[in-house]
Amino acid sequence: MKFAIAGNANSGQSAYRFLISRNQKVEILDDKNKNLKPEIIAKFDIVILSPGIPRNHPAVLFAIMIGIPIWNEIELAISFLKKSCFIGVTGSNGKSTTVALLGHILKLLGSNVFIGGNFGIPLCNIFEISDKIGDIKYIILELSSFQLETISSLYLDIAILLNLSPNHMDRYSTLNEYYAAKLKIFNFLKSSNGKITFPGNLLLDNFKSAKKIFGDHNNQNINAAIMSAKLLDVPNDVIQEGLNTFSGLSHRLEILGYKKGVCWVNDSKATTVDSVVSALRCFDHGVHLILGGVGKGVDYSLLIDAAGNCVRNVYLIGNEALNIEKAFNENSNIKSFLSITLENAVHLASKLSNPGDTILLSPACASYDQFINFEHRGNAFKELFRAF
Ligand code: ADP
Repeated sequence: MKFAIAGNANSGQSAYRFLISRNQKVEILDDKNKNLKPEIIAKFDIVILSPGIPRNHPAVLFAIMIGIPIWNEIELAISFLKKSCFIGVTGSNGKSTTVALLGHILKLLGSNVFIGGNFGIPLCNIFEISDKIGDIKYIILELSSFQLETISSLYLDIAILLNLSPNHMDRYSTLNEYYAAKLKIFNFLKSSNGKITFPGNLLLDNFKSAKKIFGDHNNQNINAAIMSAKLLDVPNDVIQEGLNTFSGLSHRLEILGYKKGVCWVNDSKATTVDSVVSALRCFDHGVHLILGGVGKGVDYSLLIDAAGNCVRNVYLIGNEALNIEKAFNENSNIKSFLSITLENAVHLASKLSNPGDTILLSPACASYDQFINFEHRGNAFKELFRAF
């Protein structure tokens, strides 16, 4: 059996190490190495498709056309994992927060928990980890629409769909196509008892909110974690302790601190309009909002409506700056500044802000025009905060 791995990033490399450790024949194909080509992929028996490579890549289309099975890294790992309890989380926003919070709660039981999938560590790394710490009881997977599109065998004890809002319109031809990919998560449920759909914004039962994450939208994530923990028979006091001690994730409405009475908030992970709208709902005045990066072909009207309540100025960066400026100029009285770089935006925002205001990086766009990823962008913002 000869495996081709399409895509030489995190998950592709993890799958590669896993297959090599199982003495399989495997090669990584990538556009950067100029070997992700139809005539090359045709020589393999199975293709492991990384989430970063679209299914309509010419080489992948060719593989599909000539009948080569297309797996992803998760399916590859799952074919070797039988005993664990699987929990899958999808949705347009809040996946990473939910996955991290639920993982934190389950770890309080003293069980081995693996958190992976789209979030951070690829599932194939589990074999390196369980060699060190023993069997993993709970496997919590963050599943993107791209992964759900390509998975055909997955057995979930719990499947969570957090929410749906427009995103990735650069990769889907219609919104329904994107939503259908997300809904596919329920095809993988072992029993309908494990289905959790659109947990609301009102905190469940008598639980008190998590201490370090704020905003109504986070209640959706908290409720999803509570519902899953209850399905897994976690006692209420352990769940509450988890909520009290969860430290939140970097780059998601992360308060960096205050400079001259101005609060700086890093929400670099907000790459969708919906996540920026959720962020803006947490403020009632004086927001200096930094927006822009790589646009995703979406409409900004909901963002502009939400900005109307609390935003003083917007500072626009990256490739999408002109489009966002046009949308603001045509539909609102909020002042916009074409800053192009994050550094310019931060300098101007700090010059124009008063004590009590907030400088918020919540860009509504992907980062890869000026940064490696959202972490790089958020860390650059943190550096600028420290330097001020
Ligand atoms: P994902 O993994 O789905 O991208 P994250 O938990 O990393 O989600 O959060 C991404 C962004 O979305 C952050 O800006 C965060 O503040 C915002 N966010 C988190 N949960 C929600 C939610 N339930 N609804 C809307 N926005 C959310």
